[in-house]
Amino acid sequence: MVVILKPGVTTEKRNQLINWLNAQNLQVHISEGAQYTVLGLVGDTAHTDMDLIASLDIVDSVKQVSDPFKRCNRKFHPDDSVISVGDLQVGGGNFTVIAGPCSVESEEQIVAVAKAVKASGATMLRGGAFKPRTSPYDFQGLKADGLELLKTARAETGLPIVTEIVSLADIDLFEDIDVIQVGARSMQNFELLKELGHISKPILLKRGLSATLKELLMSCEYIMAGGNEQIILCERGIRTYSDYTRNTLDLSAVPMLHELSHLPVIVDPSHATGLSRLVRPMAMAATACGADGLIIEVHNDPLHALCDGAQSLRPEEFDSLMKDLDALRKVVLK
Ligand code: PEP
Ligand code: MN
Repeated sequence: MVVILKPGVTTEKRNQLINWLNAQNLQVHISEGAQYTVLGLVGDTAHTDMDLIASLDIVDSVKQVSDPFKRCNRKFHPDDSVISVGDLQVGGGNFTVIAGPCSVESEEQIVAVAKAVKASGATMLRGGAFKPRTSPYDFQGLKADGLELLKTARAETGLPIVTEIVSLADIDLFEDIDVIQVGARSMQNFELLKELGHISKPILLKRGLSATLKELLMSCEYIMAGGNEQIILCERGIRTYSDYTRNTLDLSAVPMLHELSHLPVIVDPSHATGLSRLVRPMAMAATACGADGLIIEVHNDPLHALCDGAQSLRPEEFDSLMKDLDALRKVVLK
């Protein structure tokens, strides 16, 4: 249920109502918009008297929210959420480009790629240190050493770092990481999501390989229910009948998620297609349909990459794409 307050309601009257709602075992999520304040009620509202609340002189209207996801719901928070990563802002009209290799392989590699993508205009650096691989015999990442190398690359370039967590047991190692990525394979690791709800750090939550949008938003709700509301959603392609691409990029997820949720939505054209030559067209399409940003794999030597070389752009290809994206955004934003 959402309670929309009339403009100009005093804090005292608002708090009286919130205390009354809390006393009925309802948690209240407050969203202050330019004109209206929206109170989102979380809990069992089956016995809450909607008519009584609607009759209060400070209340404009009351609406039932039947969706199971509440805190990430746009009905609870009509304005776009903007997630701060240091001085950077994600969402709300800002365009974020996260770029870097699939995995951190060495200091030379991560620092060289970080410098190159920064020079092309990327706003954050990606790189996996803990890799969720389909085969146990494939490179599993440099783990804690990889995180240290990412920090070195951050120190050299000033780019905030984004990297994936695969196990709750590693959480302490992520204290100095700017954005924690929850990968497609972990999207429904509910115990991990709950724990990430208790920290104060932005989370990049990727859509599971076969997850519906509702399931993605319910996973997001797990994190938000713990109090961490800094979430960036990511569409990275889903499993369908695609035979020539790694996944199927569901671009309709972008406007749909924007309709359903107030959180920023970015797109990963690299994992969605698995082919570097398809990254450019899909990145352009994602930008054109309103994505708040992109996460793109870039490697200085894709032929010898330890992971996902086939879908990695070379730095010069990334640079050219960034120029095209700039030009496209000027047209799209008109
Ligand atoms: C990644 O970004 O490195 C990754 C493994 O992505 P996904 O979880 O989308 O497969
Ligand atoms: Mn990858």
